[in-house]
Amino acid sequence: MANPLFDALFAPLAGQSSPLLILAAGEKISGDAFLRLVARTANALRAAGVEPGDRVAAQVAKSPEALAAYGACVALGAVFLPLNTAYTAAEVDYFLGDATPRVFLCDGAAEGTLAPIAARHGATVLTLNGDGSGSLTEAATGQGDEISAADRGPDDLAALLYTSGTTGRSKGAMLTQANLLSNAEVLVDLWRFTDRDVLLHALPIFHTHGLFVASNVSLLSGGAMIFLPGFDLEQVLAALPQATALMGVPTFYTRLLDDPRFTRNLVGHMRLFVSGSAPLLAETHVDFEARTGHRILERYGMTETNMNTSNPYGGERRAGTVGFPLPGVELRVMSDGREVAQGEVGVIEVRGPNVFKGYWQMPEKTAEELRADGFFITGDLGRIDAEGYVHIVGRQKDLVITGGYNVYPKEVELLLDEVPGVLESAVIGVPHPDFGEAVFAVLVARKGATLEAADALAAIGDKLARYKQPKAAAVVDSLPRNTMGKVQKNLLRETYKGWFKR
Ligand code: AMP
Repeated sequence: MANPLFDALFAPLAGQSSPLLILAAGEKISGDAFLRLVARTANALRAAGVEPGDRVAAQVAKSPEALAAYGACVALGAVFLPLNTAYTAAEVDYFLGDATPRVFLCDGAAEGTLAPIAARHGATVLTLNGDGSGSLTEAATGQGDEISAADRGPDDLAALLYTSGTTGRSKGAMLTQANLLSNAEVLVDLWRFTDRDVLLHALPIFHTHGLFVASNVSLLSGGAMIFLPGFDLEQVLAALPQATALMGVPTFYTRLLDDPRFTRNLVGHMRLFVSGSAPLLAETHVDFEARTGHRILERYGMTETNMNTSNPYGGERRAGTVGFPLPGVELRVMSDGREVAQGEVGVIEVRGPNVFKGYWQMPEKTAEELRADGFFITGDLGRIDAEGYVHIVGRQKDLVITGGYNVYPKEVELLLDEVPGVLESAVIGVPHPDFGEAVFAVLVARKGATLEAADALAAIGDKLARYKQPKAAAVVDSLPRNTMGKVQKNLLRETYKGWFKR
């Protein structure tokens, strides 16, 4: 019997008395105790009817029990389907209808609302609360704490993760055992994770970053995790002295830098800081190094592909870039069906063992984005510089086409970010009576600075071709971001869509 993912991530925990999970309150859970929790949870899910290939959906707070539910699904050969805790009942309705899971795990407080929805889609509801209590735990308590993992092959599905769906319906990315395992193996090696590492884990586990990049890498290396329910500045500052590595979204780093207690001394012992899921401002990279002496290692990936590129561990970690394709991952930049010339911008495509199997029950969507030769069309615009570093220029759908000319928002944002008084910017396209779309800038002022939109635009006036210059700008307190730190340009486009009609 074989189950490559279980055998690599969970089986080695047997008999391990050292801590695997260190919780915010200081409680420690050994590897062996966690494995037994995984086994009991798997037995409870099996008793609820879960069989290999079945989906198990979970909209639950982050907890050791929630991580154990993922391990239990791997053990059973079931397909783990984590859902963002922010999703509304209407969204959950869509996901359960689309994925038809056998079991749906939700918080006890949401059971009243969600149970009828789950019942309509044929799913059994078990509850799991943030403190680990609930009917899943009750069911697991009476179960044996050993499990013989279901037989699985590398191409069998391990997880179904829905894309954030800012355009159209969210799509379920089918991720196989080999997708997850190959990526974890590459990252452990590249980022030099060992059983001596203690990863500060403050990311959500409903997303590829926290669930796969962070948890799988740590589990595979045999190290420990300081497992926090979320990013709480006080908890993170208190935990850093015990950690060797931190994986975060850019907002983790800006929030840390905003606090004077975040000092070189506090992190002098740390080995690695990784950033991803959204672009890290080059300025944050520079400020972080000035404050701590560490260079943040930025990497790039997505739900459908796991991780694609990374800055080097040993070599130069270059601000504003996402580094090189990972070993085993092919990356090309395409335009009009052809690879672009060196240094030019195009759509990034990737191929490798990390790339998903397709979208759940959406063969047409799959065929649109996953080419027959195995390359996945990421929808990210990028370029490769002379030294081979990959630069992300933005999303294809964020490209602004004004009067027939293409404007890459990133190019304009980089210039605006350098204007004195500007903390950060987001450039979008909004409807315009003459140009179709007009370039529009949304600016955030630095603390204490007064910023006039017109002055900021004037400051970049001679640095950009006229058609690339924003036709107007607005100053706001902060940019709308999702939980993974991504600026929600769709919301900005909605807010400012009437600007030129006024
Ligand atoms: P998700 O599927 O939610 O992980 O989102 C994936 C998208 O996040 C990618 O397609 C990129 O647009 C963006 N992304 C991830 N990492 C980075 C990064 N380091 N820099 C810029 N964009 C990133």
